[in-house]
Amino acid sequence: MGKILEVQNLHVSFKTFGGNVQAVRGVSVDLYKGETLAIVGESGCGKSVTFQSVMRLIPEPPGSIDSGSIFYKNKDLSKLSDKQMRKIRGKDISMIFQDPMTALNPTLTVGDQITEGLIEHNSMSKRAACKLAVNMLELVGIPDPDTRLNQYPHQFSGGMRQRIVIAMALVCQPEILIADEPTTALDVTIQAQILELFKEVQEKTGVSIILITHDLGVVAQAADRIAVMYAGKIVETGGRRDIFYSPQHPYTKGLLHSVPRLDLDDQELVPIHGTPPDLFSPPLGCPFAARCNEAMEVCTKIYPYRTQLSDGHHVECWLQDERAKQLQSGRV
Ligand code: SF4
Ligand code: MG
Repeated sequence: MGKILEVQNLHVSFKTFGGNVQAVRGVSVDLYKGETLAIVGESGCGKSVTFQSVMRLIPEPPGSIDSGSIFYKNKDLSKLSDKQMRKIRGKDISMIFQDPMTALNPTLTVGDQITEGLIEHNSMSKRAACKLAVNMLELVGIPDPDTRLNQYPHQFSGGMRQRIVIAMALVCQPEILIADEPTTALDVTIQAQILELFKEVQEKTGVSIILITHDLGVVAQAADRIAVMYAGKIVETGGRRDIFYSPQHPYTKGLLHSVPRLDLDDQELVPIHGTPPDLFSPPLGCPFAARCNEAMEVCTKIYPYRTQLSDGHHVECWLQDERAKQLQSGRV
């Protein structure tokens, strides 16, 4: 399948009183049509900032897209004006966030909120928009949509509210849906239902989904491909099987050991010790070196190159790079 989004060597920083935070440091990632790509990493690793930059939602200033490109349909989104971006947001690419309540206006009916985008982007009549809104509520599994359309957000449960937010995000039939921790605020059963809903919606509409999460457990069923982020970089990318059954980056392995897995008995959960590096002055070499049990001298000096392990499976770690041996002898 063809690529629908291509992020190339993206660098994003934020000016603060304490200095420049280098939040995204050379991220390259592709999204293919109709797939679900999960972006996984600890909070502060740059996963949200990367895709807020794709949507051009970071406040500029203090934020700034310093270099790189974001190709969508032969357009580099990083170069578009606010006006051009407004046409793309919602209509071509939609984004939903962790807390459904912040995305919903408590003073407007659900119907008014779902139809707003249609009326704005597609200059549709109110009646036609309402009809589509009812279809959308049906698609996301809200019973009795005709009545529910006239109700307010507080009349829905948390899980139902997230379904409404998903309906809002999908109503203009975007090609890409970016979901930033969409299930984090929900309890486990509802989480599973929302992830199932993404799959159903994808099967029906063909939308490509980017699922941002700190929880590798969440993506075990939902993702086709996974990109693992650490300290502003993507350190490993692969198919779901590559990442779960044959992870190669010590950080990916650490993440896997720190989440409970349903498919393994008798597993011991091991947290990753230490904390991510300070992104005011990130280390020259591998940012994981201070936490990595397998760190070698070269790791602290030079950032590892991207190594292709198999089709679609890439890692940035010296352990996988033959040249590491030439660059040093013996482990630290
Ligand atoms: Fe560990 Fe070195 Fe690989 Fe970084 S490059 S993850 S420090 S082995
Ligand atoms: Mg985040």
